[in-house]
Amino acid sequence: RAKQQGRDTYHVFDTGFDREIQAREAHRQRFAVALAQGELTLHYQPQVDMFGGEIIGTEALVRWQHPEQGMLAPGHFLPVIEGTALEIELGEWVIEAALRQLLAWREQGIELAVHVNISPAHLLSGRFVERLEWLLNRYPEVPSKLLKLEVLESAAMHDIQSAMATMRRCQALGIDFAIDDFGTGYSSLTHLRQLPVDLIKIDQSFVRDMLTDPDDMAIVESVIYMANRFRRPMLAEGVETLAHARALLALGCARVQGYGIARPMPAERFPGWLQEWPGRHEWSALAMHLTG
Ligand code: C2E
Ligand code: MG
Ligand code: MG
Ligand code: MG
Repeated sequence: RAKQQGRDTYHVFDTGFDREIQAREAHRQRFAVALAQGELTLHYQPQVDMFGGEIIGTEALVRWQHPEQGMLAPGHFLPVIEGTALEIELGEWVIEAALRQLLAWREQGIELAVHVNISPAHLLSGRFVERLEWLLNRYPEVPSKLLKLEVLESAAMHDIQSAMATMRRCQALGIDFAIDDFGTGYSSLTHLRQLPVDLIKIDQSFVRDMLTDPDDMAIVESVIYMANRFRRPMLAEGVETLAHARALLALGCARVQGYGIARPMPAERFPGWLQEWPGRHEWSALAMHLTG
């Protein structure tokens, strides 16, 4: 009887578990089709320097234009492909799509850096630098300094020796790095000095609550202080209001990215947005108000 019950229990669990595995597998297969059939696209979000109000770059963020489910954010598909070959295929697709966009903008007279997010497994995959070099060679008209790679702090820290070696080889190709979601990894501050990164991106979770949560404010302050001491440029992500921007500027961080400036948008909308930007004085004049 007990044995029987045990078997039944196991059986029920097994079916549920199987179903979940099958659903993930179906989701992965559907994603592979999306990748092959051109259902993926990149949206672009501007990055601003409040001193002078210039646009200093854009971040490319992947979207899946699902025919039935609409526009899907990466949170809906990155977790299912993590650890599979698709993760690397997507990563290479994103780099190539960004290079294609850089070329198209260049032909329209727009020269702006594009930041691309690189997953940890992709960066450490062993063929990353060779494939990157191959892609760069396919777009010889695009200056490599316009392509910037964003690497998560946690990825860089996970295997710091390999990450550093790979990053240095990319730098030799003229590619700069930004460290993403800074403040969320471990031993951040001690390793900051060693990492070959040209931009530190303060994680949006700290920025969002900095005006109401003293702990988050303390983290933001320390990161800005350390970055300034190490003379590393930094940018705050997730800036939704002018109050955030003002506080960041007062602490010494002039570069910002967030919904307050613009939500990520399709590439076609970007040139029009750029033309309208100088009219948005409230952001570009901030620095002048503070410095008198
Ligand atoms: P991330 O690189 O830290 O990108 C910032 C995320 O915050 C984006 O979400 C962006 O839309 C969102 N965001 C920007 N400004 C604001 C704001 O003011 N408030 C709030 N609440 N959110 C803001 P998204 O596009 O959903 O991407 C989420 C994450 O997915 C990214 O975080 C990045 O880690 C990853 N990701 C996006 N595109 C790619 C890609 O092409 N490849 C890889 N490997 N990862 C990607
Ligand atoms: Mg990023
Ligand atoms: Mg981030
Ligand atoms: Mg993030």
